[in-house]
Amino acid sequence: MSTVPHELDIINPATEEVVATVPTTGPAEVDAAVRRAAAAQRKWAALAPGDRARILRRFADVVDAHLRPLAELELLEAGHTLANAEWEAGNVRDLLHYAAGGVERLNGTQIPVADGLNITFQEPLGVVAVIAPWNFPMPIAAWGTAPALAAGNAVLLKPAETTPLTALRLARYALDAGLPEDLFQVLPGEGPVTGAALVDHPGVAKVVFTGSTATGRRIAARCAAQTKRLTLELGGKSPNIVFADADLETAAAAAPGSFLDNTGQDCCARSRILVQRSVHDRFMELLEPAVRSFTVGDPADPATRMGPLISAAQRERVRSYVPEDAPAAIRGEVPAGKGFWYPATVLEGRPEDRTAVEEIFGPVAVVLPFDDEADAIRLANATEYGLSGSLWTRDVGRALRVSRAVAAGNLSVNSHSSVRYWTPFGGFKQSGIGRELGPDALTAFTETKNVFISTTKEQ
Ligand code: NAD
Repeated sequence: MSTVPHELDIINPATEEVVATVPTTGPAEVDAAVRRAAAAQRKWAALAPGDRARILRRFADVVDAHLRPLAELELLEAGHTLANAEWEAGNVRDLLHYAAGGVERLNGTQIPVADGLNITFQEPLGVVAVIAPWNFPMPIAAWGTAPALAAGNAVLLKPAETTPLTALRLARYALDAGLPEDLFQVLPGEGPVTGAALVDHPGVAKVVFTGSTATGRRIAARCAAQTKRLTLELGGKSPNIVFADADLETAAAAAPGSFLDNTGQDCCARSRILVQRSVHDRFMELLEPAVRSFTVGDPADPATRMGPLISAAQRERVRSYVPEDAPAAIRGEVPAGKGFWYPATVLEGRPEDRTAVEEIFGPVAVVLPFDDEADAIRLANATEYGLSGSLWTRDVGRALRVSRAVAAGNLSVNSHSSVRYWTPFGGFKQSGIGRELGPDALTAFTETKNVFISTTKEQ
């Protein structure tokens, strides 16, 4: 891979057309960006908290005024449906407001001691690198960026190779809103070049990485060499557990969205459907029409529920797990012609299948029958991941027992919701380290400093 800056072709996944070319950022430019960001950060951190909050709220307002253009850009670079992309742009706005509110609560503490005054400060870290994936380019960039800025840091955002356009647009809106120059910079480029230069730069105090577990491990090793702060949001293979006592009609109607939304390119996708054996056949009868009604096609059409995969490479990856002519319990339709299409696919599987334990990151789910609660918990925990999961039951006691027993960061009962900007999000096991979002989001971008002032006369 060339370390000389060159250009990335940005391809519309629904048409395969090149829609833009974007210059990459070489190591020397990364170095210059870190230095400029450090200078901007010192001034930003010196502002009164209320002033930082006000500027972030203005940034949120500019995003709010441009939800549609942001969504259209994401449709173009990532193939997301307009409705989903508008929700994602709204998530950026909401998170900026939430982070702005956090500024005014980041107060430190005073802890009583007998012989003086003991106070803690939440000091900003300095320059933070946010390395984002392509599957939710806007929200995931904002999950790191908004609280880091709010806590008084500068942010260098490296978007994924395929999806830099929305990130670059957000940087422009930040300037329009009055965010100081250089405080939030977007550095497009390849992971092993631009991303690695950020990870290795001694001027970067923390790395927030969202992406594959394999890359996350490599980045963690590099960060460890410099005792660099790190948050990792990695892969998943989340279970959707349907008990016999559930409202089966509702569970079956909700299941397609949980593994087909964003064409399955969702770290929280419920791609393992665990169904109690006694209701398995009935559930499959209900699931089939629900999957078939999940309209696939042009992401700009308001009736579309599922667009294309992000790239030809991603389609090859999904095909390497399940070729389109492999036997399947349910297989949907895709449009003919150009575009990285792959049909909605449901497999009847066995727990030891590769498709039942590895993250495919496409519109594929595997159905695994189970006998009882203990069996369901054992199967739910039988992957290296632990990001999220759902369970469907009418028994509140069971809902709590199973939620506590499943090793995952985000569980939902009679729902597939995983992400709310005001509640914590992150993974157990190989799904990550640390949490984003929620009330502690800002603290994750600070060092706690304790200061003791003695009041005794003799020293
Ligand atoms: P990826 O690991 O290939 O790339 C993610 C980012 O890391 C990109 O910006 C890439 O350029 C960069 N990168 C790659 N190699 C690098 C290196 N050596 N040094 C520094 N940066 C480097 O992942 P992807 O294919 O873009 O994203 C898909 C993965 O992301 C899936 O596994 C998915 O589960 C995961 N994901 C997790 C979450 C979560 O919150 N847990 C959310 C979304 C996606």
